[in-house]
Amino acid sequence: MLVENVGWAAETAASDPAFFETLAQGQSPTVLWLGCSDSRVPAETITHSKPGDLFVHRNIANLFSADDDNTMSVLEYAVNVLKVDDVIVCGHYGCGGVRASLLPMSPALPHVNRRIAPLCALAQKHSGELDAIEPGDGRIDRLAELSVLEQVRAIRRVSTVRDAERPPRVHGWIFGLRDGRIKVLSSGDPADAEAEPAPSAVQHMTETSGG
Ligand SMILES: [Zn+2]
Repeated sequence: MLVENVGWAAETAASDPAFFETLAQGQSPTVLWLGCSDSRVPAETITHSKPGDLFVHRNIANLFSADDDNTMSVLEYAVNVLKVDDVIVCGHYGCGGVRASLLPMSPALPHVNRRIAPLCALAQKHSGELDAIEPGDGRIDRLAELSVLEQVRAIRRVSTVRDAERPPRVHGWIFGLRDGRIKVLSSGDPADAEAEPAPSAVQHMTETSGG
């Protein structure tokens, strides 16, 4: 990896001699990205972004919690200091964290269990719809979509965003591992995530489980 870094630094400087000088002067990203830690969903790569473009927070199953200082400090800094225009919650199909929330808790993963507890509660809340989907990837992927919209609503509700001088737009996206495409579940318009989300046409897609 360190060898790759030397190569990357040299290639970047060769193609844009002013790149690192500009980078060192500071950051002014316009987007806060809240994504999953899954290694297959790197925010910068899938959006063709460059260093300096995205302010990023990733955790298992891209969950937002107003009680979590880690997530909240990122949001606070993004809104109050960087003054981002957009917050993007990006989930993904085939999410291992979402899958785990539909399975019995693993005694070996107490921290993960605590983190995904809200997902388990969300699955309970939507059990009527989820139980109607055959157990497996379709059900997991639908819960992943419902969760993205839940995080979007929670971020819009938190005072850091709601009472901001210029509240950022909060978007809900979901990434498909099979085709590399992002699907918009909720645009920046608050009205569309407040409504009960429509079932997805891609809920029967199957993905390999992961992070
Ligand atoms: Zn994931």
